[in-house]
Amino acid sequence: MLTIQCLGTGRGATNFKTGAPSTAYVIKHSGKPVLLIDCGAGVGRSASTLLEGSLPADIYLSHNHADHTGDLPLYIATWPSDAEKIRLFGHNEVLKIVRNHRLHELESLGLAADKAVHWNPATNGQTIEVAGLTLQLFKSAHNYLCYGFVMYNNTRPILGWTADSRFEREIYETVATAPVAIVHGRDAPSGDHASFEEIDEFCKQRQDTEFYVSHYESSNFSFAAANVSLLDTGREIVLDNSF
Ligand SMILES: [Zn+2]
Ligand SMILES: [Zn+2]
Repeated sequence: MLTIQCLGTGRGATNFKTGAPSTAYVIKHSGKPVLLIDCGAGVGRSASTLLEGSLPADIYLSHNHADHTGDLPLYIATWPSDAEKIRLFGHNEVLKIVRNHRLHELESLGLAADKAVHWNPATNGQTIEVAGLTLQLFKSAHNYLCYGFVMYNNTRPILGWTADSRFEREIYETVATAPVAIVHGRDAPSGDHASFEEIDEFCKQRQDTEFYVSHYESSNFSFAAANVSLLDTGREIVLDNSF
């Protein structure tokens, strides 16, 4: 069985002010964590608690915002030296930004150099093979270079993820090709995130997909569409029973 568990939905400031973890997810294969998706501020603690210390070596990175990569330097720095190497996956340009900026301090210690971390940019700029799955990347509509993906088991789409993105129909159509889609929303629309209202309107037209909304703030918004719900830390969703 293949599942995805939410390890946090906050923004960087959420962790600073309240201790609540910012953004990350983990893919589990028969209960075993196999792929971490983003590693925002506070996620190390959340992952250690929710995954009982069984941290995955494979990590997909959508973009270099602190709420998505803030804990990555510590995740790497505290990685046991006798364990297998950490493998970082993502779009080539995103990995370059992460390496040169977020991990600059570790580079100077040699920790983020190839001896501690394997870098795995997407082939052809778009495709990643990891944990027996295929990720087909697409560029999100965000204020910082960011890539979401559709995850495939062989040729079957099982998960669509916008990563941080404002509402753009083409992106939402892409993630809705999978039976489960995770999108990022807020109360009000902006250049960086979709609004709950935009998401609700779209989901009504896509009843075959179950939508989960990662949200940075608690909201009183109630979705009219029956196939959409807010995503909270700890929530686990089944992606594939046949796996
Ligand atoms: Zn962002
Ligand atoms: Zn974010």
